[in-house]
Amino acid sequence: MDVEPEIIDGKYFLGTLCRWGHKYEGKPVSLRYLSGSKYCVECMRARMKYYHDSHRQEHRAKARYAYRKKVMARLEMG
Ligand SMILES: [Zn+2]
Repeated sequence: MDVEPEIIDGKYFLGTLCRWGHKYEGKPVSLRYLSGSKYCVECMRARMKYYHDSHRQEHRAKARYAYRKKVMARLEMG
């Protein structure tokens, strides 16, 4: 018989180590969603951060492009 998983905050449980090896409190288990996501909580945190960072970079690139276009337009006029 399987051991009952430890449920945390009614949302997570300590399951098998995720494929990215995110340990929970140094133990060979990952904090996973009861909803059955293949990503653990740390995975989701990393993904959110990655999304946020790449989004910000894209925004910066667009701003740079707009600025360059403005400068070029001014040079062509002068
Ligand atoms: Zn993970």
